[in-house]
Amino acid sequence: MTRPKKTKKRAPRRRRALWALAVAGVVFAFLTGLWWSTPAPRRPAPKQPAPAPTAKAKPTVKPKKAPPSGEPVATPPTAPSPLVAIIIDDMGHGLAPAQRLAGLGIPLTFSILPHSSQARAVARLAHAHGLEVMLHLPMEPKGYPGRNPGQGVLLLGMTQERLLEVLRDDLARVPLAAGVNNHMGSSFSLHPELLEPVLLEIERRGLFYLDSFTSADSLGLATAQRLGLRTGRRDVFLDHQANREAIDGQMRRLLALAKERGRAVAIGHPHPETIKALEEWAPRLRRQVDLVKVSEALSAPSSPGQGH
Ligand SMILES: [Zn+2]
Repeated sequence: MTRPKKTKKRAPRRRRALWALAVAGVVFAFLTGLWWSTPAPRRPAPKQPAPAPTAKAKPTVKPKKAPPSGEPVATPPTAPSPLVAIIIDDMGHGLAPAQRLAGLGIPLTFSILPHSSQARAVARLAHAHGLEVMLHLPMEPKGYPGRNPGQGVLLLGMTQERLLEVLRDDLARVPLAAGVNNHMGSSFSLHPELLEPVLLEIERRGLFYLDSFTSADSLGLATAQRLGLRTGRRDVFLDHQANREAIDGQMRRLLALAKERGRAVAIGHPHPETIKALEEWAPRLRRQVDLVKVSEALSAPSSPGQGH
């Protein structure tokens, strides 16, 4: 409404009158032109001011109209295969089982104990085979010290400073680690105030944390989620009982869980029975699920835990 006036009251009336006349003339000419050209109607009017805006508007409208009427944009892909990741814990005590497991042609993840005699060699071997490496971080279990988690363990009585010192030393012993999971820890994992500094350091290094869930009350996953880590949890222990019948049962459970939830993480150990079972199950696993590294089977940082 308010136009910037360049001149205040100077604009003479005569000038305004002339303008009005000119405008009227133009409008008149325009309308007559319209009248005359009506038989050959709307199309030819290239000089009309009206078409311009509509022409401009059209392109923005068209793309909106196109998708619904035209090609279906989202063709639903065939249902993705469920993801299964298998971690082999307690690695690093020998090269032979590592070599055998690496030879299975399954993207296993080796979780290596920091003070095991072959920690570095096993880490390099895994990496050379394209397998993922994790630090298998010892944490205080219930029944400690009767139950011995080995060296490099995080204990309830440690100061935050000491916890970080131990963690850093453990990490240095397992090169190429992409993530961390707990070895034992049924006691330590109940204490978020102790887990926090440890998890923050893991996150600071760009690593993920997988809760082995050695206690049904573990707060490892929940704490890691709260802190925004890439995280997940173990769903199935393959060889809690290291006999073939039990392992087969757990394999079936793993497949069922993966199909039900879309993904599942299993933990096994380098027992001869487990290696044998993995050898025999490998073709079936490949057929039924998508075997992936653990880092590919983690839940998104913000999503709540899967069940339990
Ligand atoms: Zn372990």
